Amino acid sequence: MDEKGVIKFDCKWKETKPFPESEIELLNNWRNKLYGLGLIGVYPNGIGFGNVSVRIVKSNNFFVSGSATGKVPKTDGSHYAKVTGWDFAGNMLACEGPVKASSESLTHAAIYEADAAVNGIIHVHHKALWERMMGKFPTTSKKVEHGTPEMAAEVMRLMLSGKTREVRFIVMGGHEEGVLTFGNTIGDAGEVLLHYFGQL
Ligand SMILES: [Zn+2]
Repeated sequence: MDEKGVIKFDCKWKETKPFPESEIELLNNWRNKLYGLGLIGVYPNGIGFGNVSVRIVKSNNFFVSGSATGKVPKTDGSHYAKVTGWDFAGNMLACEGPVKASSESLTHAAIYEADAAVNGIIHVHHKALWERMMGKFPTTSKKVEHGTPEMAAEVMRLMLSGKTREVRFIVMGGHEEGVLTFGNTIGDAGEVLLHYFGQL
């Protein structure tokens, strides 16, 4: 488990009040459902894992789980950030909200940028699922660590190859236990994940 829970990008964060529940309700419902299944949570060493996001309509901005919120059993509008810009080459991400954006936000950004039809993304950790899908589904290089511009580039490469369009599933080869699913809605992303999770 190499997730350090540390934001590796240059985070330009503007602190704001919590978001109204109406803005993050569907996203939050999925997050709490996945927490209940153990797919989002916290390792015994205190490091959180897993995150979810939704695109803000007709923009490249998105709401994403806040950094270090994996330990929270029931999240609300105080546990999300709105990502408002990024620069892969500069390893920079701009966000606002009551907390900073998840350390894996650049990976989410790559998916939204690569495919305008994607409006929801889920990243969870599950060892058996990760091992089973490795190589069967589009898989990022084992040499590439989570939360880096290289991971965003790997995810972008797979998205643009067209191989992810049907399966809507990416295995993060160099990020132990990490997988990504996505879809036209966060519900679609959740259904893809639960379909394969249910087959274990
Ligand atoms: Zn992860």
